[in-house]
Formats: sequence, C-alpha cells, structure tokens
Amino acid sequence: MLDADFFRRWMMTAAASIDREADRLTALDSAIGDADHGSNLQRGFRAVAAVLEKEPPDTPGGVLTLAGRQLISTVGGASGPLYGTLLRRTGKALGDAAEVDQEQLAEALRAGVEGVMTLGGAAPGDKTMLDALVPAADALASGFGTARTAAEEGAVATVPMQARKGRASYLGERSIGHQDPGATSSALLIAALEETAGTGEG
Ligand code: ADP
Ligand code: MG
Repeated sequence: MLDADFFRRWMMTAAASIDREADRLTALDSAIGDADHGSNLQRGFRAVAAVLEKEPPDTPGGVLTLAGRQLISTVGGASGPLYGTLLRRTGKALGDAAEVDQEQLAEALRAGVEGVMTLGGAAPGDKTMLDALVPAADALASGFGTARTAAEEGAVATVPMQARKGRASYLGERSIGHQDPGATSSALLIAALEETAGTGEG
C-alpha cells in the first residue's frame, strides 16, 4: 500500500530530478518554444518540495492536491496550470484514504490526465505532455516500471510529430524533429514514481 509518505517522497524525488534536468528541459523548449520550461518547473517543484517539507499532509490525496495548488500558484507558463491540474485532479480522485494501492493510483492518474485534456484541449498525437502521460497512466496498472517505460517511449515518440497545441504549434512543420519539453518532463515525473516505489519502505 502507498501512504502519504510515499507520495511526499515521490514529489521530492521529482523535484530533485527536475532540478538536475532543468537545463535540458529549457534547451528542448528553446528549440520549439520560449526556453523557459526547465526554469518554470524548477521554480514550481522547488516550491512543492518546500511546502511538503514544512507542512506534509497526512493523506496521499492531500499531498498531491497541495503540490498541484503550489504548481498553479508558482508556475507562470502553460505547464503550471496543466501540471497543477494533473496533480490536483489525481489527488482529488484519491479522496481522503490514508493508504491507496497501485490500481487506485492508476485510476486516479487517469482522472488527472483527463483533467489535463479538458483544460488544454489536447489529445495524444498533438506533441504535448499527454503523449507521455496517457500511455503511462494506461500502463500503471501493470507496474511502475512498465509505466516509466511507456512514458519515456511516449516522450521520444513526440520527435517526429507536428505540434498542434501550445506555443510549439506556432512553428507548424518546423516543430517536427524535436522532442517535446512537456512530454520529457512528464517522463521524469513518472520515472520519479518508479524510483520511489523501488526505494525505502514505500
Ligand atoms: P509555455 O508554453 O507557456 O512557455 P512551458 O514552456 O512551461 O510553458 O511548457 C510547455 C509545454 O507545455 C509543452 O512542451 C507541452 O508539453 C505542454 N503544453 C502546452 N500546451 C498544452 C496543452 N494545451 N495541453 C497539454 N500540454 C500542453
Ligand atoms: Mg515555454
């Protein structure tokens, strides 16, 4: 079973990973966007780590909704409200249970991903974070490692796509040939989940 501490460690691991990879995320965003994705998420996840350090909620749902609220209030770019919605919706779907199992998390993550689709109006194939998140949410019931692989393959699969949503879509065909920054950061988020599951008592 996965408790509040597991979810807190997931967010901390994600924050550390975003910190390490911020330059790469910004480099990807400089090719097809405005070169701020790394710094946007770094600011957001540092704020998430700080609030979870100070006042850790005592349920899995509480951890994710607090993290989502923090992202919405600290990240200015498109990705702030989108990631914020992902975590808030996922957290809300987990309710106030003290512990959840992997199947419940998979179902909640699907609800979170649907929230991202509703807010941003994008679908898989549009070269966005959804190209990593949708396959990851679908794969999660089969295991954390399967979800990580699905997210990483989904991110790589955005390279030949033409962007149809967000800033990258302004480039038209020139968006082809570059990996989407948001799909790349989503893969980091899912990789952090697998790392958290593979360590500690979680
Ligand atoms: P901004 O585009 O405002 O500069 P970021 O650079 O932080 O924001 O985030 C860009 C990422 O956000 C993109 O790589 C893409 O994955 C994601 N994104 C943008 N628009 C959408 C959307 N409508 N739906 C889902 N994801 C989106
Ligand atoms: Mg940007």
